[in-house]
Amino acid sequence: MSAEHATALVLRCVDFSESSLVVTLFTREFGKIEALAKGAKRLKNPFDSALDLMSLCRIVFLRKSSEALDLITEAKLLRRFRCPGRDLAPLYAGYYVVELLRDLTARYDPLPELFDLANSALESLSLGQPVWRWVFRWELAALRLLGHLPSLETCVVCGQPIQGDRHLGFNPLQGGVVCQPCRTAQPLPPPSLTVDQGLLRSMAVLSEPGHAAADRLELDSAHRSQLRHLLNQVICNLLGRPPRMHAYLALMMQERPGRKTPAATFDQPLPPAPTGPIGPPPT
Ligand SMILES: [Zn+2]
Repeated sequence: MSAEHATALVLRCVDFSESSLVVTLFTREFGKIEALAKGAKRLKNPFDSALDLMSLCRIVFLRKSSEALDLITEAKLLRRFRCPGRDLAPLYAGYYVVELLRDLTARYDPLPELFDLANSALESLSLGQPVWRWVFRWELAALRLLGHLPSLETCVVCGQPIQGDRHLGFNPLQGGVVCQPCRTAQPLPPPSLTVDQGLLRSMAVLSEPGHAAADRLELDSAHRSQLRHLLNQVICNLLGRPPRMHAYLALMMQERPGRKTPAATFDQPLPPAPTGPIGPPPT
């Protein structure tokens, strides 16, 4: 049993005994691991107060065979998540990042790009960058990296590229966008939504980790609420239940005057909001 070294984000800490914790970590090198941190609750311990939810740390751990918990022997704190100001939305968004990272990944499935994305999201939230945009970026880019991003450019019914149609159908259960001819030929089964090309372009930008325009992308309130509704359906369908932090999404989506606003707007103006049958986001 050799000692492994890794950079990790702390996804969960659960009391194991009076002095020990079981921690779930997402490591850049090995993916998600679950490990015992003996003595972590003692005043003097080898973990440098690094095993806090959403912290970034370097760890040394002993990898156990089969289903047994790994054993953390050392941890060094690299960055603690700090909520900027008194607004709770960045904190809730950080909880949401770690919740999806924990629930959408399997143990020992290394996904370094997903690690980098989650790390950027947590760092940017703690620096006060707009919460709504980072929530969308995190959700869409994580879906892309995990292979669950709905089809945005090809009709899921006929397989043809989407061209020119202004208003398109979108069915999360069918896996994405439906072209106008297919939609006319056969009404979409529920739950179906109407989306426009502008929203699809924005989704493509937000879903690309590190896309140059993603930091500046603006969405008006109609498109935000439309995208919220769509992603709620996709994510609930994927997990088979709503994530716990979905109860706080309304707070995360608000633009607060105290939060930093973007320096520029997206180059390409978005078309007006569609008039199709869009329900309100679930509460
Ligand atoms: Zn089609």
